[in-house]
Amino acid sequence: MTSDELFSALSAIVGTENVHNWTQDDTDRVGVENWPTAPVIIVAPGIPEEAADVVRLAESLNTGIVPAGALNQLYTGYAPNRPTLVLSSRRLNRILDHQPDDLTVTCESGVTLSQVSAALASSRQTLAMDGPLPETSTLGGLVAAATAGLRRSAYGAPRDTVIGLKAVITGGNSVKGGGKVVKNVAGYDVCKLFTGCYGALGFLTEITFRVRPIPETTRTVSWALRDTALAARAALAVHHSGIRPVVSANLVEPDRSELVLSFEGSEKRTAWQIEEVSSFLRKFGVDDSLQELGSEAITALHDRIAIDAARSSIAIRVSVLPTDLPELVIAISKLSINSVVSDASTGTLSAAFAAASISDQLDIRRNIEAVLPQESYSIWTKTGTLSDEACPKSAMGEDAGGRSLRRSLQQSIDPSSTFSPGRSGL
Ligand SMILES: Cc1cc2nc3c(=O)[nH]c(=O)nc-3n(C[C@H](O)[C@H](O)[C@H](O)COP(=O)(O)OP(=O)(O)OC[C@H]3O[C@@H](n4cnc5c(N)ncnc54)[C@H](O)[C@@H]3O)c2cc1C
Repeated sequence: MTSDELFSALSAIVGTENVHNWTQDDTDRVGVENWPTAPVIIVAPGIPEEAADVVRLAESLNTGIVPAGALNQLYTGYAPNRPTLVLSSRRLNRILDHQPDDLTVTCESGVTLSQVSAALASSRQTLAMDGPLPETSTLGGLVAAATAGLRRSAYGAPRDTVIGLKAVITGGNSVKGGGKVVKNVAGYDVCKLFTGCYGALGFLTEITFRVRPIPETTRTVSWALRDTALAARAALAVHHSGIRPVVSANLVEPDRSELVLSFEGSEKRTAWQIEEVSSFLRKFGVDDSLQELGSEAITALHDRIAIDAARSSIAIRVSVLPTDLPELVIAISKLSINSVVSDASTGTLSAAFAAASISDQLDIRRNIEAVLPQESYSIWTKTGTLSDEACPKSAMGEDAGGRSLRRSLQQSIDPSSTFSPGRSGL
């Protein structure tokens, strides 16, 4: 089939206005210059049945499918290993059901984080999940990438908040997991299987989340510090103290560090916690230069991670034991960074590096590998993972058996490797 014939066949399913040939501009905008074969076409179904027809057509032509939301971070991970089309959730953008009393909301996968936040706000509720670029990031993309924002230690990761989902898989078949009530899982937990699948098992069409009430008060405070080591160690010390911030983040830029803590609860309780933490930090050697930040400060930190990753030639995300985090932050900050954002309560670190030439990039990769502690998990870079061959210490948190189990699971659900072929590097 020629590309014109493919365009016509897809147009017959979703309408001509919802099919676009992939252009060099798309490649540059999305940042997938390193993909040896650019996607052929981008197609946006309006209902799950259309997505199923697209899957059947693609499979009949032996074309792979890369599911996508806003394409904000499609560049992360390995390149597809054969020709693909991009299956976009852009038109699956309806909020289907909100049950304030049951604390659940059901959305199509192309609904954005801002869209659902606005809809829930009238009931003083919110999604217990956050991530970067809320105006565009889709719920499907966030769940598929298992994006755990900086409030993770307080509210959990997507696998804790997703209670039901629907997806279109190989053959155009639909699969459903969980449901619309909080306690409904019997047998294998399909929701957890698809959460963090990076588009490798199927195309998510609908997701049900647990929601939570908006707290009475949220206050975010920060301390600007010149000493990176002091900031990183202070963040861990707060984590080990009895004080319980919902966000405990440390932003490092080439010449400064900032410790950012966020507290939620009643007005009285948040005020008391801020007093406690200020006096704790003073004793720890952090002088009293506390600054009150606006409500958008945490979203800005999430955005910072995504924007710096997109601009940098090397970006990584590493999870380590929280006790190993300060030394890793200190070591990584000595490399040529754009920014490092770390979360003391979960031991995660996202860093973006300034490296113009290929040899600089190789140096940075080598230096990163040299400073990673023995127990490092879920390490990814813009162009794949710092896994086995590249980084013997990482092993992505699993042994060889774990990898082969994942591979056989993926093969049994998607035997012809239709979805995101080659992208998981298995
Ligand atoms: C590997 C990875 C790890 C990330 N980790 C973090 C993090 O720790 N912290 C943070 O703040 N941000 C993180 N992000 C960024 C954040 O998840 C993205 O910004 C978010 O995915 C944006 O949504 P999007 O709609 O632009 O998704 P896209 O960029 O379009 O897609 C992201 C991924 O999800 C898949 N996908 C998208 N839609 C669907 C769908 N409907 N069905 C199935 N698969 C789908 C894609 O194939 C791709 O693998 C990560 C992103 C990736 C790809």
